[in-house]
Amino acid sequence: FGLIADLIQIHAVEQPDSLALRDSERTLTYSGLNALMDRVAAALQRDGLAVDDAIAICAWSSVTYATVFLGALRAGVAVAPLAPGSTPESLARMQRDAQAKLVFADASTADVLGAPEACIPRIALDGSDVGRAFDDWLAPEGAKPTRVAPEPSSPFNIIYSSGTTGEPKGIVQGHGMRWSHVKRGARYEYGPDTVTLLSTPLYSNTTLVVFFPTLAFGGQVILMSKFDAAAYLRLAQESRVTHTMLVPVQYQRLMAHPAFDAHDLSSFQYKFSTSAPFGAALKADVLKRWPGGLVEFYGMTEGGGTCILEAHLHPGKLHTVGRPAEGSDIRLIDDEGREVPAGGDGEVVGSSAGMMVGYHRQPEKTREAEWFAPDGKRFIRTGDVGRFDAEGFLTLFDRKKDMIISGGFNIYPSDLEAVLRGHPAVADVTVVGVPSEAWGETPIGYVVRKPGDDTEPAVLLEWTNAQLGKTQRLAALHLIDELPRSAIGKVLKRELRDRHGRG
Ligand code: ATP
Ligand code: MG
Repeated sequence: FGLIADLIQIHAVEQPDSLALRDSERTLTYSGLNALMDRVAAALQRDGLAVDDAIAICAWSSVTYATVFLGALRAGVAVAPLAPGSTPESLARMQRDAQAKLVFADASTADVLGAPEACIPRIALDGSDVGRAFDDWLAPEGAKPTRVAPEPSSPFNIIYSSGTTGEPKGIVQGHGMRWSHVKRGARYEYGPDTVTLLSTPLYSNTTLVVFFPTLAFGGQVILMSKFDAAAYLRLAQESRVTHTMLVPVQYQRLMAHPAFDAHDLSSFQYKFSTSAPFGAALKADVLKRWPGGLVEFYGMTEGGGTCILEAHLHPGKLHTVGRPAEGSDIRLIDDEGREVPAGGDGEVVGSSAGMMVGYHRQPEKTREAEWFAPDGKRFIRTGDVGRFDAEGFLTLFDRKKDMIISGGFNIYPSDLEAVLRGHPAVADVTVVGVPSEAWGETPIGYVVRKPGDDTEPAVLLEWTNAQLGKTQRLAALHLIDELPRSAIGKVLKRELRDRHGRG
């Protein structure tokens, strides 16, 4: 177990002038970053914060944001990164829940965070008037914090789950859990020559699982505060990017970009993906047209285990999310909590060294999320349904909450989505269950057509149903301009269900 903040200090001595962080406005070398981390840590200690205390950061990614996160780690202070796109109610709840002593914010949050004096002391990261100026708050140049020694179980960050299925839950990840992600980095050749491009927000674990290893191994992180396919491609080519993390919808946009093939992306070593279903055809397209390895992670912010698909090594397994990572014990259980025999479907549960301590101040919710094997080993329930094949690769179907029970039959929306995706008119699709008098629930589809396509929904519906079993057929199909998605690119099925009276 090591400390990421200490590794950055070592890099600052060994490679002081190499770039650590970059955004559209500024760059920071390792020596510059290290000095700023000291000043952030010293300012936090001056304000009375210590190990086990927390700060919140509510902003879009920037070098200053990253510096505050890393400086807090040096002081052993936990960071609760909050999504600036949340509703004011949700943000107020998260700030209270995290018991944050200070909030760091940027101008984009002025409307959602409310007046600064009304709540926790606030510091503006970007010179705006959402709080006290950052430069003014920072400890003076040359300031040195008192050294701290957090335990592996001391909170490193409190991350709120994506809220895909309900209210976001505060997940306490310890220093030991974060370290387990960094150790995994050795396999993906991070080092001083690494240039990682990150366009997903810093408040998501998706981003952090690549952000910390890059810095721990002395590489450079380029932060894009908002994703844009053209800008991403330009930056990737210009900066000779070697590593990146993208969610499936970003891969979809990049591969569909007319100028994709005109870019030189030969510098890429590894591209990562996680957080939502990544279609096999899209993975195949990425492997074909984008140099370097493609690695998909399947897991949760809660931890409990990860499956890894190194797609470039297993081109025959693109429909799966791969095999359990080293040290991850992944099993399947049925509704009664019994382990499912080999080859069967069940809810995925996982156990590993990298597991959340628990949901923050929600022991009840934590207990609901746990499953104990007959020998007492602790697992975390994912709420996802899957099946292992004979070689141990996991195929994921759907979240349990998204499964449709129609006339007593279980329907996996992902099966129907896969059929629809095979139609040339379909650019994007999702299937949800809505209440039905006759069947209890019935599946309906939402389709985004490719630009310029005018295929009638009735034609699509008939085409799809002709390929489905009798019990699976779609009751209706609607056109939609864009699927509702969270900021991290997950389809918000519950928003579509709400339109039909089911939450
Ligand atoms: P909430 O728990 O608040 O509803 P969430 O579950 O979306 O939100 P996260 O922890 O960000 O919050 O996401 C974990 C979930 O994301 C997994 O349970 C799974 O459903 C989905 N997921 C993660 N990786 C993959 C993947 N590679 N393929 C398919 N789905 C994935
Ligand atoms: Mg979840």
